[in-house]
Amino acid sequence: MLQINSLAAKIGRFEAPIQQALARVTASGWLVLGPEVRQFEQAFAAYVGAGYCVGLANGTDALELGLRALGVASGQRVATVANAGMYASTAILAIGAAPEFMDVDPATQVTTLAEVERVLDAGVAAVVVTHLYGQAIRDIAHIAALCAARGVPLLEDCAQAHGARIDGRCTGSFGDAAAFSFYPTKNLGALGDGGAVVTSSERLAARVAQLRQYGWSAKYQVELAGARNSRLDEMQAALLSVFLPALDADNARRRAVVRAYASRIRHAGVQLPAFDGGGDSYVAHLCVVRSLDRDGLRAHLREQGIGSDVHYPIPDHRQPLFGERFAAVRLPHTERLAGEVLTLPCYPEMTDAQVDQVIEAVNQWQAA
Ligand SMILES: *Cc1c(COP(=O)(O)O)cnc(C)c1O
Repeated sequence: MLQINSLAAKIGRFEAPIQQALARVTASGWLVLGPEVRQFEQAFAAYVGAGYCVGLANGTDALELGLRALGVASGQRVATVANAGMYASTAILAIGAAPEFMDVDPATQVTTLAEVERVLDAGVAAVVVTHLYGQAIRDIAHIAALCAARGVPLLEDCAQAHGARIDGRCTGSFGDAAAFSFYPTKNLGALGDGGAVVTSSERLAARVAQLRQYGWSAKYQVELAGARNSRLDEMQAALLSVFLPALDADNARRRAVVRAYASRIRHAGVQLPAFDGGGDSYVAHLCVVRSLDRDGLRAHLREQGIGSDVHYPIPDHRQPLFGERFAAVRLPHTERLAGEVLTLPCYPEMTDAQVDQVIEAVNQWQAA
């Protein structure tokens, strides 16, 4: 079965440098928040084009601790989209704040300037925008300017957009802070969990660094509330330093896979993702197509030995944990997309033959 990604293929490709990195860490005897973490933090901050990177245990912590560092408190409302897998909503809820949902553009599936303007008018305390599926939000600079003009902090969720750029500038460098995940399947992924907050504010970075380690201002001296243990370990940081130099080339290969799909999948019932040609505003984290008979397409692909997945089947405001809380909220594009989206295999190590296999299988689908 061809899956939507293959970590075994990645591990095989990097086998020697992985072994070297792990041997270096075990030989050093330093396992948590040490020189490897510091080195990766500096390299990744420089890559994104921001002043600081604070390594964390995972991307959801990055969202939560990022929002806490931005001053979000219990009882406040924080804007987020509802089509991005519930991660931001989970972080917002963990603070005791309430999500205020934005709808998305039906073509690009990311949030729009108009929706951000609407929630700012509604009085949210912070805004989270998500560069979904690897698509940088085209309007991100305008969104950042609008939030800044209103004095409302902006957090970019870059967990699916490592290396995506707008006019040469990396996503994660536009907002007050950005949250990254290094979950293994992300464009920049560790071999375990990891995450980071990136920011150009020294003060914010210092706060996140305190929040990731019990709220300490000095060892065993607890100053900040809302903290926890959310450290990045040395092995993951060393591995991320192995993978980071390959990120741009890997993103280009991902893009080439989607470009091949876009130019050779010819099916009236399947709509390919909207992205602009070869530009690096899209890093193809997930190749998400749309179909009115999504489940039919999925079953057909499975019969052909091709795995697929749905990102994401349940919009946040319809998640069972909310019960009737958001029953009156209507997000027409988000709700419609949840029934139509399907993720096809797309990862840097995919062979041309595997790409051909997916294209042929989709083209052969006899939609009902
Ligand atoms: C993966 C992901 C996260 C969460 O990252 P974890 O490391 O799994 O906690 C947050 N936001 C988006 C959009 C993601 O895809």
